[in-house]
Amino acid sequence: MFIALQNSTETIVSGFDVLGSAPQPSRGDSFRCVLCDGEVAFRNGEDRFDFFTHVEFEDQCFERPGNSHLHQTACEAAVMEFCSKLGCDRNSVDVEKRVTNRQTWTTADVRILEPEPIVIEVYYRCRHCSLRRKLETLLNNGYAVYVICIQGAEYKPTHTPEDFNSSLRKIGPVEAGTYRPDVNELSVGSRITSELVDLDSDSVKDGEYDYILKG
Ligand SMILES: [Zn+2]
Repeated sequence: MFIALQNSTETIVSGFDVLGSAPQPSRGDSFRCVLCDGEVAFRNGEDRFDFFTHVEFEDQCFERPGNSHLHQTACEAAVMEFCSKLGCDRNSVDVEKRVTNRQTWTTADVRILEPEPIVIEVYYRCRHCSLRRKLETLLNNGYAVYVICIQGAEYKPTHTPEDFNSSLRKIGPVEAGTYRPDVNELSVGSRITSELVDLDSDSVKDGEYDYILKG
């Protein structure tokens, strides 16, 4: 995993933080999993998704078979940002949570319930993003939604942040956040709420097929 809870400070740190600490790495530190509270060890694995691993079992809480490691890292970077800087309660964080609304359902990449319900959707290699349907389900369930996409041509994301923003502009004055793996920088983008967007606007219905909104 990319992030963990540092026991001595009770704060979320990333593997980069541990690598950058002095003495390097601070061996006296012990860490827990942000999601399950289980003990994790810093091991400086071969990539950033692999910095922390559970000591007592093999499953890694943020890892999902269908998701790429870069997608996972971006989700973890988002959890760190929202819990460390934006006041979200780490005890209310869940990943890959199913959200249903009447006949439709979707899976939320990251769901945080406290102090208010939000969902963070991360996009990387997805061609048909179904964002309109996702937003409808999530907004109707009372979540505010953040859309974060991977930035950097070297990572070959299917759609660029500019693509996302031009699609999002069709539904309202909102824009996507970005995760730049090369410098580990995350911006959260707009807080998308039902007051801000019109999912049935003419510009969604008309015009050419929109790979980001449709599907
Ligand atoms: Zn865990």
